[in-house]
Amino acid sequence: MPEQPRTAAVTAVVAGVPVDTRHWIGGRRVASAGTFTDRSPIDGRALAEVSRGGAAEAGAAVAAAAAAFPGWAATPRAERARLLHAVADGVQQRLEELAQVETADNGALLRSHRRGVMPRVAHNFRFFADRLLTLDHEDFETRGHSNHVSWDPAGPCVLITPWNAPLMLASWKVAPALAAGNTVVLKPAEWSPLTASLLADIAAEAGLPDGVLNVVQGLGDEAGAALVSHPDVRRISFTGSVPTARRIAGAAAANLTPVSLELGGKSPLLVFADADLDLAVDLAVEQYDNAGQVCLAGTRLLVESSIAEEFLRRFAVRAAALTPGDPRDEATDLGPTVHRRQLDRIDGFVRRALDAGARAVVGGGPDEDLGGLHYRPTLLTDVAQDSEIVQEEVFGPVLTLQTFDTEDEAVELANGTRFGLAAVLATGDPERADRVTARLVAGTVWVNCFFVRDLRAPFGGSRHSGIGREGGSWSFDFYCDLKNTVTAPKGGPGHG
Ligand code: NAD
Repeated sequence: MPEQPRTAAVTAVVAGVPVDTRHWIGGRRVASAGTFTDRSPIDGRALAEVSRGGAAEAGAAVAAAAAAFPGWAATPRAERARLLHAVADGVQQRLEELAQVETADNGALLRSHRRGVMPRVAHNFRFFADRLLTLDHEDFETRGHSNHVSWDPAGPCVLITPWNAPLMLASWKVAPALAAGNTVVLKPAEWSPLTASLLADIAAEAGLPDGVLNVVQGLGDEAGAALVSHPDVRRISFTGSVPTARRIAGAAAANLTPVSLELGGKSPLLVFADADLDLAVDLAVEQYDNAGQVCLAGTRLLVESSIAEEFLRRFAVRAAALTPGDPRDEATDLGPTVHRRQLDRIDGFVRRALDAGARAVVGGGPDEDLGGLHYRPTLLTDVAQDSEIVQEEVFGPVLTLQTFDTEDEAVELANGTRFGLAAVLATGDPERADRVTARLVAGTVWVNCFFVRDLRAPFGGSRHSGIGREGGSWSFDFYCDLKNTVTAPKGGPGHG
């Protein structure tokens, strides 16, 4: 593995922004013999050749993280917090560049990256920096003995992220892991690797010591697999699909490495006859955001029979008013899907559903006018609860609609998949909202709203949507080794 000098050589210019696409290990840019090609979903253009790491780079990065760990763990909390705020400052200063590069890389809307996502990245760093300073060390007494509970850093953490919200999800893991006093090896998804590389630059400029944050680029089966099976890793946090989670959990089991898994969903959006129908339709159309490539999306519309026809009529009007197009245009509501393989996968689900008797009342195939990786916002009716289209995560702009007659039936349909990430509920009756939410299996339930997220809240999924919760102090629960120290009273008997 040839080492390069520390000065960052520019290996790609994306949306006018220089991006070094080598790994970032121990405070140095490191290349691999091989590369992989990163393409833009906007026009299929090759954006960059990115270093393709494997076992050697994974080993070097974990070693760098392990070497940096004692120093970072011993760094006073206030200093760690200061450095994380400096990273947030760097994100804010480079917000426009990050937004442009992310849009070029994964095709999500530039206006969302500018106004929502990148400010949120900075906020993630600030939130966990501040939270670190308020973590309590619980103290209590047992028969004269003092108990002192402390949050000890755990060691090197491997963080593996998907392509649908690359820097947002990376920062959601990197910030608490670093705040807790751990060191990090981040492996971004191979379909959107670029902003992780910019984060390494920002962290270095902010003054983060060498080896505290490392970035290994590469494919899941190579770099990813080598990282999650490394015996010196103390935590693995993964966001991605269920099949990959199984492989990661298997690799982690061999070393008994604790794993946090944030996985897919097939979340229900329940609309009761007493709901504000325009609000319910707005909420339903919102599920097409990011071309439906959102883990939390409420893709199963469950609508009370008595209002289903009117709901559908209004939904079709609203969906038709969406503007598909180039994600860099302010006016665009719906950009391309991320990759040809993803587009084919989405279309495969829709074709099979149509073959099985579903009806496309909205959309139903690729957008032939725009071409490229654009898929038409789609709504399928006449779908059976046990059908593939209702049970499996599509991860594209594809919704299904089923009807129900009673609250019991609504809850049964809502809970009737192997997932449990989120649920959205539209009702004008607060008592119904309480009754129904109490029975829903979901990590997050939104009542008459969607995607309102506070970092103080726990986030995660039940069943196959994940294991564990992050957010607030739950992130510190995961990233820390909690220790209880019991001290005998001065001059006391020595045991209690
Ligand atoms: P994926 O599982 O294919 O890949 C995710 C990451 O895992 C990538 O970085 C990939 O390189 C890596 N990887 C693949 N194989 C690996 C292996 N054997 N060992 C280690 N790492 C490996 O998922 P994706 O297609 O990138 O993302 C889409 C999925 O992510 C969807 O299921 C979506 O619901 C889920 N997701 C969940 C959340 C959440 O918070 N619950 C958020 C966003 C996305």
